[in-house]
Amino acid sequence: MGRTAFPERAVGRRWGRRGCCVAAVLLAAGLARAQEEEAPAAPSDAGGEVLALVREIEGNLERVREREFLLPTDAGVHTREQLREYLCAQLDQELPPEKRRGWELAAKAFGMIPEECDLEQTLLDFLVAQVGGFYDPATKKLYCMSSPLKLLNYTVLVHELAHAQQDQYDDLERYYDAVRDHDDRALARQCVVEGEAQFLTERYLAEFPDALAALASEGDSGELLKFGLQQGLAQIGAPPYLSALLTFPYLGGMRFVRQVKDRGGWEAVADLYAHPPLSSEQILHPEKFLDPAQRDDPTDVPAADLCAALGADWQAVYANALGEFQTEVFVRLAGDPVRALRGSYGWDGDRYCVYQCSATGAVFLQWVAVFDSENDAAEMIDALRRVLERRSSLPDAGRLDVKMDAEKERVTARDAVGAPRALAARRGEKLVYLFGLEAGMDAAGLEGAALQALGAQGE
Ligand SMILES: [Zn+2]
Repeated sequence: MGRTAFPERAVGRRWGRRGCCVAAVLLAAGLARAQEEEAPAAPSDAGGEVLALVREIEGNLERVREREFLLPTDAGVHTREQLREYLCAQLDQELPPEKRRGWELAAKAFGMIPEECDLEQTLLDFLVAQVGGFYDPATKKLYCMSSPLKLLNYTVLVHELAHAQQDQYDDLERYYDAVRDHDDRALARQCVVEGEAQFLTERYLAEFPDALAALASEGDSGELLKFGLQQGLAQIGAPPYLSALLTFPYLGGMRFVRQVKDRGGWEAVADLYAHPPLSSEQILHPEKFLDPAQRDDPTDVPAADLCAALGADWQAVYANALGEFQTEVFVRLAGDPVRALRGSYGWDGDRYCVYQCSATGAVFLQWVAVFDSENDAAEMIDALRRVLERRSSLPDAGRLDVKMDAEKERVTARDAVGAPRALAARRGEKLVYLFGLEAGMDAAGLEGAALQALGAQGE
């Protein structure tokens, strides 16, 4: 699935890869935007002012990170209009139209964004409004947005300079490119990159409080820094799906990097670039990642090619992996955080494919997953039951009758005439989820093909 699949990559990686930093900006979401509207154009000496700050921060950051910059970082100031141009160009280059489309179809098929949502436009508007600065690995230059909030700009610079230093030691473009087609692996790497930058920013603020105090004006006191990332996202009305995806690399990543640092020092953090975590599961459970005895690398899960079984008009348009993090988001967005945690906890690997009918535009989703144990897979079936119940209760969805068997091996959602429209089937620790079944489709045949590809048939 192109980039779109599940955003991790799309959003995450793509934007993260260029070092666009929503985080620092999001700290002041709302506040920043309100003041920006009144901000004068960047003064002509803004670039010089920023460069002076960059040199100061580089020196401090070297002490915090206990590592030197190999080169001085070039920096400049962008207006929002320049940022929009930059982001549009990046979007076209890294997320071509058909991949964007696949991502959006997937997010809708999973029920994570509403049908009417234009994901690309939402993402772009959101980033243009909220990005406070970015480091561009292609040009090795750092940009911050013209803004009257000096305190905000300072923290953005710290974060972006952390990226500049990362890029000097470990080529960030290459780091991301190696996992370009696997959203969950890309998300894990984004957590390393953004998590380290956030962790460094936090330590920097603790170690150099005077630098900030001198810059803080009445309008941007310490309250700014306490402003929560998620709270900020909620305030500007970001869809919960984007909000979850955009904040995880910063918050989940920072928690992960902090544990790695506590356990093995900066050497262990540096090793995350040579030996990256392989999934969001490892970001969520750093204690297992760090303990060789408990380490659980993800399983590659094969998905069946269902094109022929679906019919002549059907094409595969996108394929990717959810990973533990997005599996949890998928269920949580259906309104059940408890089942989301229980269901996703035993995740061991997954794959999904989106198919579309060229004649009708209808979408069909196949998701296959493997869990650590039969019990874990049964928890996920229970979570999927709740997802389907929730979807069938939405105003524009036809009412579906959702039933699960006693052994938690199967859940089926049937329409008014008893035809299956979605189903989940479990064999041991393996699970198949099919959504978008239509009248006339061979539901049993599709399920059998998906299970067979998983190696689960006949168990
Ligand atoms: Zn960043």
